Amino acid sequence: MDLFATLDVMGHEEVVFFHHKDSGLKAIVAIHNTTLGPALGGLRMWPYRNEQEALTDVLRLSRGMTYKAAVSGLNLGGGKAVLIGDPSRKSEEIFRALGRFIQSLGGRYITAEDVNTNVQDMDYIFQETDYVTGVHPVHGGSGDPSPFTAMGVIQGIKACLNRKYGHTDLGKSSYAVQGLGHVGYHVVKHLRDAGAKVFVTDMQKERIEPCAAFGAEAVSMDEIYKVNAKVYVPCALGASVNEKTIPQFKFEIVAGAANNQLATDACGDELHRKGILYAPDYAINAGGLMNVSIELQGYDRERANRMVAGIYDIMGNIFRLAEREKIPTYQAADRLAEARIAAIGKVKLPTVRQSYDRFFAARRTGR
Ligand code: NAD
Repeated sequence: MDLFATLDVMGHEEVVFFHHKDSGLKAIVAIHNTTLGPALGGLRMWPYRNEQEALTDVLRLSRGMTYKAAVSGLNLGGGKAVLIGDPSRKSEEIFRALGRFIQSLGGRYITAEDVNTNVQDMDYIFQETDYVTGVHPVHGGSGDPSPFTAMGVIQGIKACLNRKYGHTDLGKSSYAVQGLGHVGYHVVKHLRDAGAKVFVTDMQKERIEPCAAFGAEAVSMDEIYKVNAKVYVPCALGASVNEKTIPQFKFEIVAGAANNQLATDACGDELHRKGILYAPDYAINAGGLMNVSIELQGYDRERANRMVAGIYDIMGNIFRLAEREKIPTYQAADRLAEARIAAIGKVKLPTVRQSYDRFFAARRTGR
């Protein structure tokens, strides 16, 4: 990869490689865009096969965070960190070493949980830096963001139902939920509480049992794409909407938590052509980001709930623009995000960083 040429195309501001021999830390932080505020995005731990794979992932994910924050109306930029390593061999020292490095960025990047990292890991990082969210409530944090992500997904599904059928009654539809982890479990619970028919699948058998106990019907991993349900709810990994799966869909809506659901833009075009309503992934799954963003001003659960409920309206704005411009919804979301960055980029916001700095200083005294 010609790195600078790639950064030029993707628009990144900064990419930092961190290495600490004694702890075994190998991490990359990518700061994509800080026009709207400091770059906030989770820390993913993954046994990448090589550095190139890790770099590609962090560049793609950090760019996605810029769009997510922008479309969600947050005063945050986009960034992400990847930790190269086996998640089963985590250690306190690796996260503390990373915390020290994150502190050295002076607040341009703020971290949080992502795949294979949790509240305990954030607490280790918090020992070394102010610039971490998703820490335990005893440190003024908001804890696990997943229930908020799930709540946002439910709001997004309601917006889709309203668009497609003119009602928001979850119980009147049927769903196929792929992935029953931190987010998927809560989504299934909300749907079953509303009385909906729900098909579920997961590659880990032990994750199916708790959802089956709510009355969800388990199907195999391959079957999930062809069940007779109105809404496909991807909550596993990315690219599950692809040229092999789309022809199997009886679904009329795709609305779930997974990042990078569309294997390619052409898959988004294909959904549009077939009249399948797609809830753009980074807009519908922003509940967790919204929740941790509130930590930066002093955590308030009620404010978090209100903000996450706003995903319903954000989704409505995307659908209206898509209809007006006759474009797929994924393009409409991009346009809204880019328009906000361009507009706010022309406005000077000196107080935003200052207010975060005041909060960080106050929190430091409590550590
Ligand atoms: P998780 O790791 O807790 O759960 C994912 C589940 O998907 C696991 O149970 C795994 O076994 C299952 N899975 C993986 N591949 C599968 C496959 N091919 N078929 C069936 N099941 C499969 O992750 P999570 O925190 O619940 O996040 C789910 C998705 O949502 C991820 O893509 C994540 O990036 C995205 N997301 C999560 C949050 C959050 O707050 N946790 C926020 C935004 C986006």
